[in-house]
Parts: sequence; C-alpha cells; structure tokens
Amino acid sequence: MSELNPQDDSQVVLYEVRDAVALVTMNRPEYHNAQNSQMTYALDAAFRRACDDDAVKVIVLRGAGKHFSAGHDIGTPGRDVNQSFERASLWYDHVGKPGGEFLYAREQEVYLGMCRRWREMPKPTIAMVQGACIAGGLMLAWVCDLIVASDDSYYADPVVRMGIPGVEYFAHVHELNPRIAKELLFLGERMPAARAQQMGMLNKVVPRDVLEDVTLDMARRIAQMPRLGLQLSKQAVNNAEDLMGKRATMDMVFGLHHFAHAHNELVSGDRLGGYDAKAMASSQRKPAEA
Ligand code: ZN
Repeated sequence: MSELNPQDDSQVVLYEVRDAVALVTMNRPEYHNAQNSQMTYALDAAFRRACDDDAVKVIVLRGAGKHFSAGHDIGTPGRDVNQSFERASLWYDHVGKPGGEFLYAREQEVYLGMCRRWREMPKPTIAMVQGACIAGGLMLAWVCDLIVASDDSYYADPVVRMGIPGVEYFAHVHELNPRIAKELLFLGERMPAARAQQMGMLNKVVPRDVLEDVTLDMARRIAQMPRLGLQLSKQAVNNAEDLMGKRATMDMVFGLHHFAHAHNELVSGDRLGGYDAKAMASSQRKPAEA
C-alpha cells in the first residue's frame, strides 16, 4: 500500500495495484470511514492515478475496518468543512461565502461534482461493501458500476430526518424502483443486503470472509476484456441512464436539497437541522424486518 499525498501523514486513502486491479481503500476505520474533504480529495487523486495507469483495467473501491462508510463527516475531530482545498472542478472556493452560497458551492464540488466525475471514469469500478453503507456511503457505492456486498451489509439514507430529501447524489430512483426509493427515504431505516439485492441494487451478496476473494475474482475476470470494449459498454449504459433522466433528476433534486439546507439555517441556524453524527446514530431506527 502506498500513500497518495506525501505531506499528509494520516493516509485517509490507500492505493494498491494487484495484477490489473487498483484497490482504493478508504482508511478512517476509527470513524467508520466517515468522509471528510481530505478523504474525498484523496479518493479523487487515487481514481485519477488508476485512470492514468494503463496497467490498471478495473478499480475496486472499499473501506478499511468493519464498515464501508458511515457517510459524510458530520462530527469527527477531522471534520474539515471550513477548509479550502485545491479543487477538482472550476467551482470557486466555498470558504468565507455567505448564507446558502457556502454549502451550495462546497457540495457542487465535493459531492455532486466529484460523484459524477467518478461515475464517468473510463474504467469499470466495483464497490466492495461490508457493514454500514449509510447516506454519503451510498453515494460512493452508487457511483461504482457494480456492487459486491457482504451478507451483513446494510443501506440507509436517514437524512430525511434533517428535513432534507436524500443525499446530494440523488440516484435513489435509478438504484431502486420509485416505490422502494420512497420506502428508503420515508422510513430512514436500514435496508438489509438481502433486500437491497432483491431490489436490484447489488450484484452479489456473499459471506464477509469471502468478500474480498469474490470481488477480486470478478475484477480479474472483467480485466480480461478489452479496455475499449469495457469503456464503450460503460458509456452506453451510463448514457442510457441519463436518457432515462438520471442526470436531470439529480440536478432538480440538488435544488430541493439546498432549499432544505437553507431552510434549516433560517429556522434553526443549523444547516443540518441540529443533527450531528451522534444525534443521527441515536435516532437510527432498526428495520422493521431484518
Ligand atoms: Zn448537503
């Protein structure tokens, strides 16, 4: 494993190439891989590295530790929402901007912008998911082409509790059928892997002790296909999804999402409606069926 950013000693993302497969690992296991900006920029750098390397045919995204990702960082000591970073898009810096502009500019870059950019990587991507895949964690799994999951993984988007209509990358109605998407949003409960697979969101569900082997085996088999054929197939399916409204839906909901952030700030002075990581975790209801 190698460090991406030499001036950064915390190694929030690890990068490794095995055969023709790049393994990109979120590495904040002590915080269940909560994504701060440092991590999103390190992920972006790792993906660029994998795309640039002709020896890499397939990219696997995974999380170190017990969980894939608990979502966006809304409460660890490394929360860096007020910090400037070298941006990946042409969006201007959010730091110091007033009112709704702060979060709108930030989320255009680190959430919507980066997720779309990652979805469009010209190489097949596989999310390898274990344990929690919550809110911002869903965004990272959903940008991948395939999802291989352990049978103890679970999926939730509880941000409706903050008065917000789902996470920034609103792919809910393309990942699940609309009625199941409403179930996920309205209840905010954990959807177990078995149900997520039944609803078409997961490609494979396996016991955790074989999760890595099964994922890498699939990646290696894909890697035997020609690069251009893989890229064109990916583009064909992604373009078809966009023709079915995926991109336009996301743009529309991003506006609703930011209306909700701004509403929260007007009413309570807090963009997240008074919820931090602890409050979200303690309000997390168990699924009615598990
Ligand atoms: Zn947001």
